[in-house]
Amino acid sequence: MYKSATMAINTSIEQLPNTRGDTIRKLKAIGIGTFWDLLNYFPFRYDNFSLLSPIDKVQFGEVATIKGTLTDFKNVYLKNGRKIQKGVVTDETGKIDVVWFNQPYLYRILRPGMQVSFAGPVKGFRNTLSLEPMEYDILKTPDSVPIHTGRLVPVYPEKLGLSSRLLREKIFRVLAQIEEGLIEFTAKDMFPEVIVNFNHLVSELDAYRNIQFPKDFASAKSARERLAFEELFTIQLSSALVKKEWQKEKVGNLFEVMKFEKNLQEFIGGLPFKLTNAQMKVTEEILTDLKRPIPMNRFLEGDVGSGKTVVAAIAAYLSFLNGYQTLLMAPTEILALQHYQTISILFKKFPIKIAIQTSSNKITSDKKAKTIDNYDIVIGTHALIQKKINFGKIGLVVIDEQHRFGVKQRSLLKEKGMNPHLLTMTATPIPRTIALTLYGELDLSIIDEMPKGRQPIKTYFVPREKRPSGYQWIKKQITELGVQVFIICPLIEESDIETMKSVKAAAKEFERLQKDIFPEFKLALLHGRLKSKGKERVMDEFRERKYDILVATSVVEVGIDVPNATIMIIEGADRFGMAQLHQLRGRVGRGSKQSYCLLYSDTQNAATLERLAVFSRTYNGIKVAEYDFKMRGPGDIYGTTQHGYMSLKVASLSDFKLIEASKKAADYFISTFAIDTYPEIKKRVNEYRVRQISRD
Ligand code: ADP
Ligand code: MG
Repeated sequence: MYKSATMAINTSIEQLPNTRGDTIRKLKAIGIGTFWDLLNYFPFRYDNFSLLSPIDKVQFGEVATIKGTLTDFKNVYLKNGRKIQKGVVTDETGKIDVVWFNQPYLYRILRPGMQVSFAGPVKGFRNTLSLEPMEYDILKTPDSVPIHTGRLVPVYPEKLGLSSRLLREKIFRVLAQIEEGLIEFTAKDMFPEVIVNFNHLVSELDAYRNIQFPKDFASAKSARERLAFEELFTIQLSSALVKKEWQKEKVGNLFEVMKFEKNLQEFIGGLPFKLTNAQMKVTEEILTDLKRPIPMNRFLEGDVGSGKTVVAAIAAYLSFLNGYQTLLMAPTEILALQHYQTISILFKKFPIKIAIQTSSNKITSDKKAKTIDNYDIVIGTHALIQKKINFGKIGLVVIDEQHRFGVKQRSLLKEKGMNPHLLTMTATPIPRTIALTLYGELDLSIIDEMPKGRQPIKTYFVPREKRPSGYQWIKKQITELGVQVFIICPLIEESDIETMKSVKAAAKEFERLQKDIFPEFKLALLHGRLKSKGKERVMDEFRERKYDILVATSVVEVGIDVPNATIMIIEGADRFGMAQLHQLRGRVGRGSKQSYCLLYSDTQNAATLERLAVFSRTYNGIKVAEYDFKMRGPGDIYGTTQHGYMSLKVASLSDFKLIEASKKAADYFISTFAIDTYPEIKKRVNEYRVRQISRD
């Protein structure tokens, strides 16, 4: 007998039988080019149509699948002009009416005499039961396997009008042909056997079968776990490899540490405060890196106000002592300016030349200086290294609040003949497990302790009815204690850049507050659409106490330091993620006075109220983040800008256990196996890297 040749799994979908050109075109447009891509288009839920019932056993209220012969079918016109479709299904136990509302096209599809399988809720009317099908199958023979009924039925994201029904049929077909041996599915697992066994992974083919058409919910879960493990493993392995390659790099300008230990001690001893234990620990970690001929690539995480800048300054000082320049880059001009001010104060008594280079600030102590190659610390925005500036010998680059110093930026430095030590800093609270995955190629240091004497920022939830007394209390605080207040406007639209709608809403709120609530005080408005100079002026004037209250949108910079501002009001608090709330809250509590954060919200939603309650009693950023991860997943941690950063398909960053297991497996793999003997793993790692570089 003739047997058709087997097709490869990466055969083009053009080979799909009975598929219109229009469908092929749409599938390709959503990224499905091959059979393999089809298998990798995952459902986001399953409709449970697995209850198969003989017709005489169906029960009112249940969702059932019935199978039998369609013995009658017609369109019925109701008096109100609406159409219903009515049929009768008969099996060996009895018959039942089936009813659809307004789906006249079924008349062209369903005909009496057909073998059918229908799934849907069982309804009742005057003691007769009927079924309202949500899905149907037409069976070639009574024994044919139904696709859309009689099982857990996958439901897919429907894009470009491609229905779940259509996707389901195509995917089912591919899986069926794999069973029949018509499409080849490699029998060899991508992982070494020990990894499969140790992690109790189901086979790859089982995973695809059961994520698409699961036997039951438990097998859908283990399928998902297997595929999530593959995904996380790929990411972990990729970073581990990058890290390994990094170990081969040679630092451009070698540091001496021992020789300057005394100077460093002097600098630290001369600070107006004692370093916290956490600061000392991470300083040690950084100095250990700086001793080595391999460039440092370290990620420093610490809550707002935990004192990261000082730590960076110590490293910059060492760079200076070695005769090298340090670049410090911030995400915005305001923050660059603030760093400039802080660093200038820290080095006031030292012969260190500090310059700032942004589009609106070119401050150097020598006005006529044409280049900044003789400055010891150069501060700017992230665009700094893209500029055609003549730098001197750069020893250290500090990057504030940009989570990954991309491959591109690094090659820019290399083009300029530099391979400096890198220190990346963030105040975004990220649980350690997550940080190790997101930034696995970096070494991680965490400052998990606040300087002594900082009082926790008392945080309260203020419901609508308490609003007036809240405003009264604020007035009293301003008049009696002379403190200043931030009022953050609600998030109107989620967007990377501030939309006009958000700006207008903020302007309106500003007017309301100035006219109706705080007419006796001076208010200023700050939003992302102001020019950089304008923002700076408002911030400076606020710092100089020209205003009592600063009304601002949430897009406004995180790190702003105004010690006299002790009250933070967050309007529409329910609309922010917890990590974002935490960062907003971190703008107060900079001085020695007791600070407060008031969460204004009209929400009645119990889960949201609980979330805000947890936030009110949790002061540690990482704890806040962990809670948020468990409750809502990672999207909120990174706000709108970082959302979808890793574009995970199946895995979730809230699954700490799987993340840890896959990390262990990746580390084990790299130490035990040669990646060249695992072509599928190698391929995936390469694909992941290409995607990552193109996103940089
Ligand atoms: P961040 O981690 O947000 O960058 P900063 O480095 O700006 O924090 O520090 C916040 C404030 O705390 C600064 O005014 C800084 O001088 C001060 N500070 C830093 N470390 C300590 C410490 N160990 N004890 C007291 N104050 C400190
Ligand atoms: Mg900072």
